[in-house]
Order: sequence, then structure tokens, then C-alpha cells
Amino acid sequence: QGGGLGDYVAPSAFSFDDIGGQAVAKRELIEALDFMVHSAATAELGIRPLKGILLCGPPGTGKTLLAKAAAAYTDSVYLTCSGSDFIEVYAGVGAGRVRSLFKRAREQAKKLGKSGAIIFIDEIDVLGAKRGGDRGHLEYEQTLNALLVEMDGLKADDPIRVLLMGATNRPDLLDAALMRPGRFDRQIQVDLPDREGRKHILQIHMRNKPMATDVDLEAVARETIGFSGAQLESVANEAAILALRAGDKEINGDQLKNSIEKVLIGEAGDRKAIE
Ligand code: ATP
Repeated sequence: QGGGLGDYVAPSAFSFDDIGGQAVAKRELIEALDFMVHSAATAELGIRPLKGILLCGPPGTGKTLLAKAAAAYTDSVYLTCSGSDFIEVYAGVGAGRVRSLFKRAREQAKKLGKSGAIIFIDEIDVLGAKRGGDRGHLEYEQTLNALLVEMDGLKADDPIRVLLMGATNRPDLLDAALMRPGRFDRQIQVDLPDREGRKHILQIHMRNKPMATDVDLEAVARETIGFSGAQLESVANEAAILALRAGDKEINGDQLKNSIEKVLIGEAGDRKAIE
């Protein structure tokens, strides 16, 4: 799809079942989305529409996946961008981008005959940081104000329901105006997976890979404390590469064990490079 902010991604069959662990986050998100799906009933009861959901947590834990699954669940079009896409030196450019993003969402939904659109902004703290202070540049304020105006303009009886989903690892940096009722009034925590969650994520990423009988994903889950979903995906991928290099048809337990090390060392190496 042509370049531009908030590139539209076709609604896929991506479902919550493709996301490992995160049972609480998934439940809370589905509960919130049911308001969107049953908007007529909620409007009748005078419940205000759901406008924004904030996903909070460390990188690589599945926030983007949750937003994608939310789009599929609500049969909405899905537009994605990052907070940094709005930061420009020239006054008014960021604000204009915010407005065109919401416009684009409605246009895309209309074009595809959908009644909903989900806009996902990753690293929303870059765009929604507290006004004033050292970020008190007029340009930031205009951009954030434009976002607030768009959110306020979302109505329960809009022909196309637009939902904004934001992701951040630093909700504390966000301007209080964004957290007021009627804006991001749902916050969902997306933490690093626990052992069960890690096993589930590994199962998802190993499901299309042939495994030898000595593979014990339970053990791999035990040995990957502190790993994010993205790191576990790397472990699975790395193990498959090791098997390929060895000329094996199946991934064995040792290759998985070695790939844990590789992911750990790879990351340690990166950290060293940064320091
Ligand atoms: P960031 O804040 O860095 O954008 P994120 O939380 O949005 O991170 P995702 O982009 O959703 O993370 O995840 C990156 C990749 O890691 C996914 O494409 C997937 O392969 C894997 N992954 C992360 N979390 C999970 C999970 N819970 N289940 C399955 N795969 C996962």
C-alpha cells in the first residue's frame, strides 16, 4: 500500500489465539472491545463510547499483536504508525498528520465496507508526552492538541467507529489530558510472560517447525526467565537455523538450548555496543 502515515494494513485473520500468554491482557481487551462491537446497545444505555485503549509494557511483549487481533475481532480496518512519525520541526505538520490519519481511517473503512477502524500508535509517549517542561515546544503542543480534538470528536453514533490504541513502556510520561475519562480511559498492562506464557509463546512459534522427540518446551520455558515474546520467537527461529546448518530435518533439544544462549549473548553484545 502506498507510503504515507498510518499505512493501512488489510484486516487479517490474526486472532487472539495467535498470541501466547497475556491471559489477563487479552481478557481485559476483549471486554473493552465488546463495548465497541455492541455499540448500539451501549449507546442506548447512554454509555459513552470507548475511544482509547492504552497498552503498557516492555518491548516485544505482544502489544502490536494485541492491536492487530483487536482489529480482526471487531472486523475493523487497522492503521498503524509510530509516535515519532508525528514529530516534525515545522509547526503544524504533526497536527496535520494527526488529522489526516483519522480521516484516512474513516475513508479506508468506508471503502472496504467496514463499520470500524482501529488506529494503533506505537511509542505514543513520543507524541503524547506531558506538555510544558523541556518538551514544551509549540509544535509538540499543537500535535498533542490535535490528537485530543480527534478523540473528543469520536461519537457513539458515528457511522464508522474509530478506536485509538496506543502502546507505551512509559505511561508516566503521558500528558494528563490523554488519561482523562473519554480519552485513554482503559489501560491494559502487557508484561513479560511468566513460565506458562513462555511455554505457550514457544508452542506458537514452534508449531510450524518439525521437532525431534527430545524437545521439551516446558524446560525451555523454565530456562528463559525474563525473555520477551520477541526474544522467544528469536529462540525458535535461531534453533531452526542451527538445524538447517547441521543438515537436520528436525530441531533437537540441544539446538534449542544453544539458541537460548545465542539470543542472550546476541543481546549482551548489542548492549556492549551501545555502552
Ligand atoms: P514494541 O513495543 O517493541 O513494538 P510489542 O509489545 O508491540 O513491542 P510485538 O511487535 O507485538 O511487540 O511483538 C514482536 C514479535 O514478537 C511478534 O511479531 C511475535 O513474533 C513475537 N511476540 C511477542 N509477544 C508475543 C506473544 N505474546 N505471543 C506470540 N508471539 C509474540
